[in-house]
Amino acid sequence: MHEDAMIQFKQSLRGRLIDRADAAYAEARKLYNAMIDKRPLMIVQCADVADVVGAVGFAREHDLRVAIRGGGHNGPGLGSVDDGLTIDMSMMKGVRVDPANSTVRVEAGCTSGDVDHATHAYGLAVPFGIVSTTGVAGLTLGGGIGYLSRKYGLTIDNLLEADVVLADGRIVTASPSQNADLYWGLRGGGGNFGIVTSFLFRAHPVKMVFAGPVFWDIQHARTIMRKYREFLPRAPEELGIFVGLKTVLPVEPFPAEHRGKQACALVACYAGPAAEGAAVMQPLLKELPEPLFNWMSEMPYPALQSMFDPFLPKGMQWYWRGDFVNELSDEAIDAHIAQARQTPSVLSLMHLYPIDGAVHRLGRSDTAWNTRGATWAMVIAGIDTDPHNAGNISRWTRQYWKALHPHSHGGGYVNFMMDDEEDGRLKATYGDNYDRLVALKGKYDPANFFRINQNIRPMNSGG
Ligand SMILES: Cc1cc2nc3c(=O)[nH]c(=O)nc-3n(C[C@H](O)[C@H](O)[C@H](O)COP(=O)(O)OP(=O)(O)OC[C@H]3O[C@@H](n4cnc5c(N)ncnc54)[C@H](O)[C@@H]3O)c2cc1C
Repeated sequence: MHEDAMIQFKQSLRGRLIDRADAAYAEARKLYNAMIDKRPLMIVQCADVADVVGAVGFAREHDLRVAIRGGGHNGPGLGSVDDGLTIDMSMMKGVRVDPANSTVRVEAGCTSGDVDHATHAYGLAVPFGIVSTTGVAGLTLGGGIGYLSRKYGLTIDNLLEADVVLADGRIVTASPSQNADLYWGLRGGGGNFGIVTSFLFRAHPVKMVFAGPVFWDIQHARTIMRKYREFLPRAPEELGIFVGLKTVLPVEPFPAEHRGKQACALVACYAGPAAEGAAVMQPLLKELPEPLFNWMSEMPYPALQSMFDPFLPKGMQWYWRGDFVNELSDEAIDAHIAQARQTPSVLSLMHLYPIDGAVHRLGRSDTAWNTRGATWAMVIAGIDTDPHNAGNISRWTRQYWKALHPHSHGGGYVNFMMDDEEDGRLKATYGDNYDRLVALKGKYDPANFFRINQNIRPMNSGG
């Protein structure tokens, strides 16, 4: 590439262009998952929509592969690209709450913590994921599952509008009344159709919650998982409650006498008065053995959302697998426990997040995300601080997934996938919506310009 072109591009920006010679390059290219080590040719940190349009034009003109980066949390590192241009949105952090309409306008560089912080001041919240450092953009475009999903749906179910820069540089709005087909595709179709520069979300009255984890020794896992399976369909939708198999971390604030023990955990959030939440949990807890500890208490919603952040800092090794799950049979529970007992590290985990309640109130073809009948999104995550253990955590995750996959619904949540999934996985995930997504890709990105993602290939692209 001609140096003049780069200089001109740099001069046109309000944000920053970082190339390999730049002192900031090493830090700027780092992703959340340190198992992924990508070296883009350049990273453009966009300050505004005009920068995004400029970056798209520059990449097109110089035939550069582009990746779009929101929070950089993607498991396989699809927020960056080797030898191409990373379009980094993380400087675009505007959030504006409209309390009269219970909506919030969010720029694409925000993390969910940025938005929770802003909406909390108004006693409002949008359903996002369970770790506050996750990017809103990637999380939303893949679906968005969290504690509030049973009551208020997925993040995409609360997306009212998005501003998008398309592959040809046009800026469009996607909403029920403008480019409605694109609006449909953005709700689950990932970064396939363009670069979202801002989202408009519906927010809900959530301020204080009764929430937190309860841990039991893994010897009780079978009892806990069976009772949980029966309890969930009867529990009010205000209660978001997931089950996990994990280890009591050997750090503060976990009780010294339990550190390092393998455990089964229920992690819950009751979006309502604390007394009501305690009353809802009581019938379940009274049927279960004495826990190692029960940390459920009343807290501000953002405190719950950031509760796990300190244990999951950027820079660790991650390898993910997931599936959608309809039923948790006795056989599946036993297979879970057998696999979890072989955990390769104290951080590795399995979580089953409920996606019933409000998530089921939309039809399968209402959004690109179509798994409206499943009960859980399962994630198995091998996690460790030590790069030398990367092989072990990956192997364990794949082996665990293989053992449980026969008990699943088929298809998996795109946000819990790596980039080495078997052929046909995306098709199985999108089901009846897949062909419509391919057609949409053909309309909005026929050359597959946006292909560093869980890629939906346009017909005849070869790309
Ligand atoms: C610790 C942790 C906890 C998590 N918890 C949850 C959870 O509770 N619930 C849940 O649903 N998911 C969860 N996830 C998964 C998460 O949703 C995905 O990793 C998601 O890809 C992260 O989005 P990001 O913007 O941070 O990622 P990035 O790596 O920045 O981007 C990922 C992909 O999203 C697309 N993208 C990003 N920004 C844009 C944009 N502006 N326009 C168009 N496309 C864009 C691109 O295709 C990109 O490749 C978690 C992930 C981690 C690491």
